Amino acid sequence: MNEFELIERLTRRLPRNPSTLVGAGDDCAVLDLGDPEHVVLFKTDAVVEGIHFEKDTEPARVGHKALARCLSDIAAMAGTPGHALVTLALPSDFRLPHLEALYAGMTALAAQHGVAIVGGETTANPERLLISVAMLGRARRNQCPLRSAAKPGDAIFVTGELGGSRAGKHLDFEPRLAEARWLVGHFPIHAMIDLSDGLAGDLRHVLKASSVGAEVRAGSIPISRAARLAARKGSRAKLPLAAALTDGEDYELLFTVPAPQAVALLDAWQPAYPDLKLTCVGKITPAAGLKVRDAHGSRPLNLDGYVHFQKP
Ligand SMILES: [Mg+2]
Repeated sequence: MNEFELIERLTRRLPRNPSTLVGAGDDCAVLDLGDPEHVVLFKTDAVVEGIHFEKDTEPARVGHKALARCLSDIAAMAGTPGHALVTLALPSDFRLPHLEALYAGMTALAAQHGVAIVGGETTANPERLLISVAMLGRARRNQCPLRSAAKPGDAIFVTGELGGSRAGKHLDFEPRLAEARWLVGHFPIHAMIDLSDGLAGDLRHVLKASSVGAEVRAGSIPISRAARLAARKGSRAKLPLAAALTDGEDYELLFTVPAPQAVALLDAWQPAYPDLKLTCVGKITPAAGLKVRDAHGSRPLNLDGYVHFQKP
């Protein structure tokens, strides 16, 4: 059983109430708490030593990542983050300067995005450090792009470049909050998700939630320099295209927009965000499944996204 199957099993019969607009299964929960113009976004996420960072990773970068992952999910809903709670599970050998540096990384990013850290919890975890962040944000009503909203004929776009995140980007990424709000403010964005599990894996989440398929063009995938360099290094490294499709933790945005808007979007994006690439990588199809098209034709994509764990 992989992570996604486990989540599906555990979330099948969760209690809801009338304020639950979107429960488990999207980047954030979406709640109606009575504000006539906004919905509330609610999210939690954890990073664990040995999985999301190493014991010797600079603590400020760990703190940055712990908060940035939640911010990236708020971005995927075109939201504005507001408040966070931070829970630390501390190993017995923790050092105060290390934790202070971790908090410095986290608070610097919080300040940059106007996020108040309003409390939390500390507990013990004998072997390794765990940092869990819960976050509230808000988004304009009816401007919250859900994973379930992709339509056949939509063009699929991604921001930035993909693959090779292990070279460092997974620690230092900037959540695409402003870009996401700009997108929904200017174009009829259908579905949106942030890329935490790799383009192939995250696109599959969108396809499943929307009951559609997709075809991506191999030659259009924006492959990062880090992925190209890694591929050159050793025989065990992935091919750059495979890395761009399947490496986790790019934290870029993937979204769909009606195809007739695609050219106007590219034209408007360039002056708005001259330093951030925006690429059309394919299209949504009515038939289920994820296909990749290259010089040899179109075939089902058998590479999967990054799957966090495998259990029998
Ligand atoms: Mg996400």
